[in-house]
Amino acid sequence: MNLDELYQEVILDHYKRPRGAGLREPYEGESHQVNPTCGDEITLRVHVEGDKVADVSYDNVGCSISKASASVMYELVNGATVDDALAKLAEFTELMNSKGQSEGDEESLEDAVAFAGVSKYPMRVKCALLGWKAFQDALIRAEASSGRTNA
Ligand code: ZN
Repeated sequence: MNLDELYQEVILDHYKRPRGAGLREPYEGESHQVNPTCGDEITLRVHVEGDKVADVSYDNVGCSISKASASVMYELVNGATVDDALAKLAEFTELMNSKGQSEGDEESLEDAVAFAGVSKYPMRVKCALLGWKAFQDALIRAEASSGRTNA
């Protein structure tokens, strides 16, 4: 099995068995994001406790890339500190903007490096980033509602 096939498997696995899927309470921030070019949609909630992302829950419809990416994101940010989660967001966004030039750091991005090849296709990049965009937006709303200003 070559790397492309392996990555294909990783994406399919997250698509078929999405981690952390479903909307849960409590939450402080919620975001709804749409990717009209593909028809992907996600509603995502963030529950913050202190400086930790205590829960990320989501409900989404769309293509395998967008759905798998949300599942991979859940694994990376759920339970992390807000700062670490934002660092992962920045790192994944950079990978997606690399136009196929970056392989990503597996140590830090784990299963998310499987999306490295997606960065060659601008239309698909929007699919892969949709869940992360929702996470960022929900986090800003959560921080705003809790009075923190450093989001
Ligand atoms: Zn899509």
